[in-house]
Amino acid sequence: MSQRRKIYEGKAKVLFEGPEPGTLVQYFKDDATAFNNEKKGTIAGKGVLNNRISEYLMLRLNEIGIPTHFMRRLNMREQLVREVEIIPVEVVARNIAAGSICKRFNIEEGTPLPRSIIEYYFKNDELGDPLISEEHITAFGWASPPEIDEILSMSLRINDFLSGLFLGIGLKLVDFKLEFGRLYDENDQVRIVLADEISPDGCRLWDVKTNEKMDKDRFRRDLGGVEEAYQEVARRLGILPESEQQDIKGPETIQ
Ligand code: UDP
Repeated sequence: MSQRRKIYEGKAKVLFEGPEPGTLVQYFKDDATAFNNEKKGTIAGKGVLNNRISEYLMLRLNEIGIPTHFMRRLNMREQLVREVEIIPVEVVARNIAAGSICKRFNIEEGTPLPRSIIEYYFKNDELGDPLISEEHITAFGWASPPEIDEILSMSLRINDFLSGLFLGIGLKLVDFKLEFGRLYDENDQVRIVLADEISPDGCRLWDVKTNEKMDKDRFRRDLGGVEEAYQEVARRLGILPESEQQDIKGPETIQ
């Protein structure tokens, strides 16, 4: 790890220079933060689980035609990804009211939304990631109108697909955050691809039967059982790293 050039260190991940031009190594840490860095801690084994969970979800999304930055897993905590230019917009898809939308509109947590809602936040820690509209994104040039159209349509597809996938393993996909990037090919053509990660760090997942929280809210709210919740999500997806199976057996359907 030490010889490689570190490109960027975030709250939960480190990006290193990859083995070939145009690639990066994404290293998943156990560090966790919440409330815009006010709360800090570690979740033992989180990096290993998120590496696997994100790999699994990115591969399934790729199979339905969503382009992603994911190339392949390298080891327990690292994956090889394509280098992209990150669009500084966090896209949040919501199906059930939780977190900031409850405060903003005085809605009770757990209220199903009349339809899925896509929101945009400006990715800027100093400003606390403010809520923005498509107008801000295009006016300030963070993404062009065709790019934001594509991001919106991909986000809705991802939400539909992942909602079904999680429902199949007894989890409600309450809300989640996505990040997208620009991928330049050899001819300098640009493509929008899904980047970053999809894991219980950036999703709210509730058990269908008990409504138990199986995500980072356990850390945010000191509910305990944080490691166990991440493990349970991986177990239900059929990708617990302990088994080190070559052939991932895939999700276990819950009736
Ligand atoms: N989220 C995230 N990173 C952020 C902000 C939000 O991954 O910087 C995720 C969060 O885990 C949740 C969804 O986006 O699944 C919606 O978050 P919300 O706006 O409710 O904010 P929060 O309550 O997490 O502060």
